[in-house]
Amino acid sequence: MIIASRKPFEEIKKSLTPYQNILVVGCGTCVAVCLAGGKKEVGLLASQLKMSFGIDQKKVHITEETLERQCDREFLEMIRDKVKDTDCLLSLACGAGVQFLAETYSEKAVFPGVNTTFIGVAEAAGLWTERCRACGDCLLAVTGGICPRTTCTKGLNNGPCGGMIEGKCEVDPERSCAWVSIYDRLAREGRLTQIESMRPPADFRRRTKPGKVHHPAYLRRYHAGSK
Ligand code: SF4
Ligand code: SF4
Repeated sequence: MIIASRKPFEEIKKSLTPYQNILVVGCGTCVAVCLAGGKKEVGLLASQLKMSFGIDQKKVHITEETLERQCDREFLEMIRDKVKDTDCLLSLACGAGVQFLAETYSEKAVFPGVNTTFIGVAEAAGLWTERCRACGDCLLAVTGGICPRTTCTKGLNNGPCGGMIEGKCEVDPERSCAWVSIYDRLAREGRLTQIESMRPPADFRRRTKPGKVHHPAYLRRYHAGSK
């Protein structure tokens, strides 16, 4: 899932200060799980803003809405009526959600309330770690299910840098060296030959920016447009 964390309150408040009617829009998916932008966080932030603007004796009208997803037009459309009466939108979704909200309501000012951090997993309660950089050319099949582009501090594609110390990364001694982990895993599985030959550099053609996927099954079923 996508991991995010709330921006500092003062930064958010500064963005909203020129406006009076503010709609805080949460997202019920990834950012809700990592406690950055779900319904509860929307409520807390809205209350904090009301109190803080109240102390400044600034009149504001703050409303709240939490959509199931902000990365899906269908859900964004559900707030069209509410958006009409606002001067600006504060989105607590990931960067993709904020941009889609801004595109859908292009006549309104839209601000982000969170910093989007990475694609990760929930390793323990309240602990999320990065696992994928969405490179578009996945090599987990040959690296024992461990991504060196993400978990090696230097993102090395073809084996270790040589600086590893007792299985730990030279850059951060708290972390295991990704390539040691890959080696150990492949050795256990009897697949070490897989990393004996050099792989070509990452195929950056597959990492088109901005990425785009047009799934043929959806095209067939819904005669989707050519956007
Ligand atoms: S190789 Fe690329 S797609 Fe696969 S996990 Fe690593 S970053 Fe993600
Ligand atoms: S020590 Fe290992 S994880 Fe750290 S940068 Fe070198 S190869 Fe990557």
